[in-house]
Amino acid sequence: MIKGEKPGDDKVLGIRADMDALPIQEENQVSYRSRHKGVMHACGHDGHTAIALGTAYYLNQHRQDFSGGVKIIFQPAEEGPGGAKPMIEAGVLENPAVDAIIGLHLWNDLPIGSAAIKPGAFMAAISVFNCTILGQGGHAALPHQTIDSVVISAQVVNALQTIVSRNINPLDSAVISIGELHAGTKMNVIADTARIAGSIRYFNDDVIKLIEQRIEQVIDGICRAHGAKYTFECSKIYPPLVNDPEITALVTSKASQLIENPESILSEYQTLGSEDMSFFLQEVPGCYFFLGSANAAEKLNYPHHHPKFDFDETALAMGVEMFVGCAENFLG
Ligand SMILES: [Zn+2]
Ligand SMILES: [Zn+2]
Repeated sequence: MIKGEKPGDDKVLGIRADMDALPIQEENQVSYRSRHKGVMHACGHDGHTAIALGTAYYLNQHRQDFSGGVKIIFQPAEEGPGGAKPMIEAGVLENPAVDAIIGLHLWNDLPIGSAAIKPGAFMAAISVFNCTILGQGGHAALPHQTIDSVVISAQVVNALQTIVSRNINPLDSAVISIGELHAGTKMNVIADTARIAGSIRYFNDDVIKLIEQRIEQVIDGICRAHGAKYTFECSKIYPPLVNDPEITALVTSKASQLIENPESILSEYQTLGSEDMSFFLQEVPGCYFFLGSANAAEKLNYPHHHPKFDFDETALAMGVEMFVGCAENFLG
């Protein structure tokens, strides 16, 4: 918490930086590569932490220039199981109360010198589902004595892909991705069970209600056809990320001082990615935005979560300038 010394409004701006890494073996050969085997900063959250620290350093040396205060929130576990919600429950937005909150993600899908700052729905919600197909095992040469969970799960995986293409209004956005499929122990044994797990991205509640219903109907129908049973559960993980129009305007106006070409500030950009910054934005008005961090000429353009992920570090200075500028404008 950095308190300004200038008399004036006693407003508080929250700045949120996530700081977690990912279970990926780093393949970059640089002096600052991860020292921990099997763990690396493959999403840029180390950059977010550096930007927040730089902001704290600057603001702390310029307390006389602003009123109110800035609360810097270092958040763990964004990549799962989620750190924002427990921090809110522990009272991070109180004592003193946070009036507005901002945060950013360095974004390698956009080149350095650009930003995506959009009012309203900016990132998608995520739900996850788990399904176990309960068949009947047996000898690979005697399939008529079994209920083959592998054949059934293959049909389920394919059929689930028709939900977005055939059941969802094409004007709505949604993604269903199966990330896990596990079955079997040996090539000559028919597997009695198969486990399917996936994630669903969407922007509104009607869409997830329909998707959840359709997934279970598809699983139920295919299992019935084969005489198998199943278990199914689906749960909401992160809500959609929705930016406040006023705070977004404040962030956009600061960005337009920093980024000369107005076409490099994207105000319609959306992604089906999800973020637990959304929990903070459900509590207080705020804005979460992307700062372009890719530099193709320097080969700093691998996608997020890639073993060679790295970003153009001039984005760090831009991030600090964005946060400091927004704090100055918000607090006066
Ligand atoms: Zn990530
Ligand atoms: Zn991330």
